[in-house]
Amino acid sequence: MSQSSITDKPIVVQKYGGSSVADSEHLLKVAKRIVKTRESGKHVVVVVSAMAKATDDLLARAREVANAPSRRELDMLLSCGERASMALLAMAVHELGHEAVSLTGSQSGIMTNDRHSGARIIEVRPLRVEDELARDKIVIVAGFQGVSYKREITTLGRGGSDTTAVALAAALGAEYCEICSDVDGIYSADPRIVDGAELLEAIRCDEMLELAAHGAKVLHPGCVEIARRSDVRLYARATARSGGGTRVDSIGDPERTSPSGVTAMRGLVCLRSESADALLRLAEAESIAVLHFSSEGDSGALWFSLANQHDWPAVRGRVLALGNVTIQEGLGAVSIVGEGFGQSASNLMAIRTIARDTGKTLLGTSTSPLRATIYCEEDTADLLLPLLHEALS
Ligand code: ASP
Ligand code: MG
Repeated sequence: MSQSSITDKPIVVQKYGGSSVADSEHLLKVAKRIVKTRESGKHVVVVVSAMAKATDDLLARAREVANAPSRRELDMLLSCGERASMALLAMAVHELGHEAVSLTGSQSGIMTNDRHSGARIIEVRPLRVEDELARDKIVIVAGFQGVSYKREITTLGRGGSDTTAVALAAALGAEYCEICSDVDGIYSADPRIVDGAELLEAIRCDEMLELAAHGAKVLHPGCVEIARRSDVRLYARATARSGGGTRVDSIGDPERTSPSGVTAMRGLVCLRSESADALLRLAEAESIAVLHFSSEGDSGALWFSLANQHDWPAVRGRVLALGNVTIQEGLGAVSIVGEGFGQSASNLMAIRTIARDTGKTLLGTSTSPLRATIYCEEDTADLLLPLLHEALS
């Protein structure tokens, strides 16, 4: 075997989502796409998600045996989804006559903090990946997982494989990183739900971060954070195509006058208490990631998503036992993101009028310079998404 160095060719990082590796047929198509890039003279590092519904199935199995599964054991379990796809994909690449090796997140040096089910990447030490690239192999990494300094396996939160990909691209100095999925790129709203959603040619990292943190599933927030502070060239594009898609960078599309996107969230919970500080202590003790916090005088409200709170039944019991915190579940939010959107009173009046005209109860509004969010019931969020998109585009 020829011993080459990793500086002889540019490195490309490609991430394939769950629907792109759903079954053997899809895996073979992905293997061909990888080989095509390899044969164009690049080193290829691939990050894979678990196959289609594999993560949901593993979660459901955990819930069958435990009402509030241990966070540590859950991470051990959920990390298996990606391990299955990385090994199968490596085999599919071998079949095409190329050398490939699969590596777990921990073998790839993805070092995280110890917050199980929602860990943050602290550092990437990709020594093993570099060694394999130097042996001229295609490296296939299991997404969504890492290892803490205490040597515990952690996962990065639902959708976290995107973050693995960008973190590796930054650490390896990759030429670019593509996040490949069954949609063509980033749309002004989820095209599977909103007719007339528009494919964006480019979006700024800070706007994308607001969208990702408020429900846009196309990119994981952590991946956009890393892209923003490194200079990784990032694209969201279709697995079925070799180019196109949306560029995510610091410039975006300066020509754009309408908001970049509208997004909705379901599965939110609001905790309220006479003591805002007590809410924060509670969130800290229970490792709840805060989506929105507000206080007035001493009292406060804290909103969070159940997406990565897999032990909520147990946490809920402990919250109720405190006696001084009320819990409201089944909530949602709709957010509109665009340059200066949240700074304009007329924008805020317009969206509140549209929302109020539905006759539904609104639970609150919050803004940042780039965003306005309306908090409401889950079903109201679904209703408002297309209405606001239609009104604003
Ligand atoms: N398999 C994980 C999930 O379903 C992570 C990912 O796909 O990025 O959320
Ligand atoms: Mg995803």
